[in-house]
Amino acid sequence: MDFSVINVDISRLSGATFWVLLFLTLGGCGSAEKVPSPNSDSQNVKADTIFLGGVVASMDSRVVGATAVAVVDHRIAAVGSDDEIRLWADGQTQVIELGGRLLAPGLIEGHGHFMSFGRAQQIIDLSDIQNWQQAVGRVAIAVDTAEAGEWIFGRGWHQEKWNRVPADAVDGVPLNQTLSRISPNNPVLLGHASGHAAFANDAALAAAGITDATVNPEGGTIVRDSAGRATGLLRETAQRLVAKAAAKDQAQRPPDEQRAELREQVLLAGEQALAHGITSFHDAGASFVTIDFLKEMEAADELPIRLYVMVRGESNDDLAANLPAYRMETEENDFLSVRSIKRQVDGALGAHGAWLLAPYTDLPDTDGLVLESLEDIEETARLAIEHGYQLNTHAIGDRANREILDLYERAFRQAEVDGKSLRWRIEHAQHIDPVDVPRFGQLGVIAAFQGIHSASDGPWIPSRLGVERTARTSYPWRDLIRSGALLANGTDVPVEPIDAMASLYATVSRRTSEGVSFFPEQALSREEALASYTINNAIAAFEEKVKGSVTPGKWADLVVLSQDFLTVPEADIPDIQIDMTIVGGQVRYQRD
Ligand SMILES: [Zn+2]
Repeated sequence: MDFSVINVDISRLSGATFWVLLFLTLGGCGSAEKVPSPNSDSQNVKADTIFLGGVVASMDSRVVGATAVAVVDHRIAAVGSDDEIRLWADGQTQVIELGGRLLAPGLIEGHGHFMSFGRAQQIIDLSDIQNWQQAVGRVAIAVDTAEAGEWIFGRGWHQEKWNRVPADAVDGVPLNQTLSRISPNNPVLLGHASGHAAFANDAALAAAGITDATVNPEGGTIVRDSAGRATGLLRETAQRLVAKAAAKDQAQRPPDEQRAELREQVLLAGEQALAHGITSFHDAGASFVTIDFLKEMEAADELPIRLYVMVRGESNDDLAANLPAYRMETEENDFLSVRSIKRQVDGALGAHGAWLLAPYTDLPDTDGLVLESLEDIEETARLAIEHGYQLNTHAIGDRANREILDLYERAFRQAEVDGKSLRWRIEHAQHIDPVDVPRFGQLGVIAAFQGIHSASDGPWIPSRLGVERTARTSYPWRDLIRSGALLANGTDVPVEPIDAMASLYATVSRRTSEGVSFFPEQALSREEALASYTINNAIAAFEEKVKGSVTPGKWADLVVLSQDFLTVPEADIPDIQIDMTIVGGQVRYQRD
């Protein structure tokens, strides 16, 4: 069969026209896709699977009003009416009756942390605790069964979600005495939900050599009480001191045990992703060593979903030496591609780490943290261009976003390239000064945002930024689209649950977790939101020729939803169930 792929020279287009043309060229411009006939094919190919009787949300303007899809091998062979698609079936074909349900392109998680997500399911989950007492209780249970000296890990606590905080708390976070009392001999390290802080008991602080006299590392804070004693809270780079000690301890375990643990992380993360309709996942950061491990799993056909992995945590020297060997373009029915680098300029807003143009309203002596220097990121930018890599930089505060736009612009100019063809991204892009919003479209920089963050953070953003600045800079999605920017959506899992429906609901409703409307004028339409989870994320990974829409010739990555996301009443969106997830034509998840 002939699956023609449309190529377009995108490097010469600009601004709004650029993405619109890109989408139209990929998605056609109005005329209905002619369904290929199975009988006209000399091979007389039959479908392995056909889907009938559904509503196809194709995300392709050429494919309108379709109810059925034929899959041959790992590709979509045809999209059309039930009658047209039945022609593709023979006695061997698996027939899946949709019964009016929605068939959409497989959802693409645009920014998550794949291995941490798997690991989050291996360690103590603190994401649902109501107060500090519950955290201590869960750690106590783990201490009971732990061997002497064994490290105990947990993650997901967030003090803003608690119903009460101890009276002696510093910066809203308890002192570590209770934790040290129940676990005097086992080091305990509990990661904050944001990933931008961690909490350690005394045994863990001692293992890292942290005393009351230890000076703060660059870009981090060892939080202390009024007497100068370390409270156990470690902000930003300070948590690495304890993480390093823990990693050293863990590395002494037998290699087989460590590999089994990593493999389990991949499988656990994949299983959860599939149950949420995710067929591809943009992993915001893995080291070369982790990529080697994923390569092995791919070769053994063991990767549960498709991974687009950003290189993370390597020095510029190591990048220069290894980027050519690690570049993996998306190939036929591929489960692993590598052609991007992740950097991070600032921290998170909740922990006062986001880098702002003006000081925090509730902590006026700081305007945030710079975690990785601009000079260092600039060298990475040069290396990325030299080796054909995309650069994706975490920027949350309005200063961070401006600095990275400036840096990208300089890199494009110095290399004399049109940045649009490079599709560089800003991860999160949460708070943007209105002056900088149009620059995303002008420079062709993709805003890789997370809808669900607006719902979780909305209730307390005004306390950090003040009401006026919150209104002016927070999650300006509508303005970004208007400026011609491409929006890529996701959850930042495990910072947030991988629940795509929750993130899509936040994206279209702009309701916070407390149900309050949060600048609804910046909300996306249903179609824009679904695009931000499918075709846009495919474009953001250079994979739009094979993913992101239900188009003949693309890979058969599909999801069946219990209700039509595009038409149900808005309040019902969070209740939409994932009924089936299909990767490369194989049903990999089915709801009971
Ligand atoms: Zn992240």
